[in-house]
Amino acid sequence: MKVLFALLFLPVYCFSFVVLIDPGHGGQELGAIGKHGKKHIYEKDISLQISKEIKRYINKQHTVYLTRSFDRDLSLQERAKMADTVKADIFVSVHFNSSIKERHNGFETFYLHNTKNKATKKVERIENKSLEGDDKLINNILIDLVIQKTTKQSKKLASSVHSQLNRTLPSKFKMQDRGLKKGLFYVLALAKRPAILLEGGFMSNKNDLKKIQQRNFIKEYSKAIAKGIEIYLATLTDKTVPIF
Ligand SMILES: [Zn+2]
Repeated sequence: MKVLFALLFLPVYCFSFVVLIDPGHGGQELGAIGKHGKKHIYEKDISLQISKEIKRYINKQHTVYLTRSFDRDLSLQERAKMADTVKADIFVSVHFNSSIKERHNGFETFYLHNTKNKATKKVERIENKSLEGDDKLINNILIDLVIQKTTKQSKKLASSVHSQLNRTLPSKFKMQDRGLKKGLFYVLALAKRPAILLEGGFMSNKNDLKKIQQRNFIKEYSKAIAKGIEIYLATLTDKTVPIF
């Protein structure tokens, strides 16, 4: 009985972490463009809307920041630098996809790693486009080092988020699961901490585009991501997130 009493009063460690959500593109950089009748829908707007929703759903025990909270230009380097400024434990970049083949559809989740996959190479080219100046020749040694130090945790985070998306999107929205994938995204490498990049559907696909704009989709998609993030953070037993 004494033991039980003592156990009841053992301190419960609830660590608080810093999450940095990165709405892809912004300002002059529109990202993928979807056409809804005569109306143009821009990835930069959808990614911002979703990022704000994710922030809303993450438990208040954690601190959540956005790399941008309105429509403005922001380089990949500035986004990554912000991760240092706010001392982010994890970095989550939010994007929507596009393809010249209209039939391509579905959602996918990336973590930083080298890959030779052709489809991923196309996504990398789009999302890495805005890297500026000399940094285009990003140091391969740095990338290798970041992969070495953070990929294990990034994969865990990606898998936690992706499994929540997989539980929701195919059943509720008939959306195709394209899988959990490796990708060489500079913004993830520059962030130098556990990081993932989400592609929430194809703006070039009519059905995906319709769903992406639905109030209910935005809510369920954001909630699933927030839950995946929380589950991952709950597995961390202390504040030893690999940041360097
Ligand atoms: Zn994008």
